[in-house]
Amino acid sequence: MPTVSNPCYFDIDTQVDFLFPAGALYAPGAERLIPTLAALNHHAAAHGYRLISTTCAHPETAEEFKVWPPHCIVGTVGQTKPAATLLHSRLTIPCTPIPLPEITAQQIILEKNELDLFTNPNLLPLLNKLDITDCTVYGVLTEYCVKHAAMGLLATGRRVRLVTDAIHHLNSQAAEAMLAAFKAQGGELISAAIALD
Ligand SMILES: [Zn+2]
Repeated sequence: MPTVSNPCYFDIDTQVDFLFPAGALYAPGAERLIPTLAALNHHAAAHGYRLISTTCAHPETAEEFKVWPPHCIVGTVGQTKPAATLLHSRLTIPCTPIPLPEITAQQIILEKNELDLFTNPNLLPLLNKLDITDCTVYGVLTEYCVKHAAMGLLATGRRVRLVTDAIHHLNSQAAEAMLAAFKAQGGELISAAIALD
């Protein structure tokens, strides 16, 4: 019997504060990813794949700010996504439990207040409701939020591909260690050209 796959692209934390030099938690060089990130998001929509864009959405008093400089505070420009990464129809899913609506939007914006996207209690029910089988992950930062996405999705038993030329890190050793751990757990490394094929 042929396996029916149900792909979902995961666009992780591609927000102004991480991507642009003026951002509060800028990863040098990350702005160069934007055309690729935009192409991947639009590719997903053009092929009818699901697209989940995670976003840090912090209050001014976020716990995370004990460790990281304040960033992605709700209501600030830094918290927004570059226009090129946004699709026309969007649904925002907050970080508090909600009854999931019927989802027809091209882009699901999944908010979170911690590094780990699975701290949004709606994520697992969402993946199950949409019957997602194949996950393609990209965004920032490789050794932090992308790691949580890639490893967390693998742990749910789904197929996970990581787009190695559409991710960006702060520390290259930590990023290499993350990629090694991801491969060891059965993750696949692919290029954007493959993900856009
Ligand atoms: Zn954050």
